[in-house]
Amino acid sequence: MKLKKSLKERTCNSCNKTIARLEKYGQKSKTILSDPKGQCISFDGQFNEANAFPFRIVRKIDFCEDCVCKGLNTV
Ligand SMILES: [Zn+2]
Repeated sequence: MKLKKSLKERTCNSCNKTIARLEKYGQKSKTILSDPKGQCISFDGQFNEANAFPFRIVRKIDFCEDCVCKGLNTV
């Protein structure tokens, strides 16, 4: 995981430490929900492949420098 400089205050997702502004942190994206056919139902309730578009919710997760270096709970 690459370390970046934080431009705002964050909380480490692993140790709950506060990551202050301009401190280094690591971030990864986690797919929470993925459904390539999730949005195929049109307004009248009919399944319509032509209206389909991929449906995906991605959450960004922050980790402090310590946890990234130790590899704690960041995988
Ligand atoms: Zn941490």
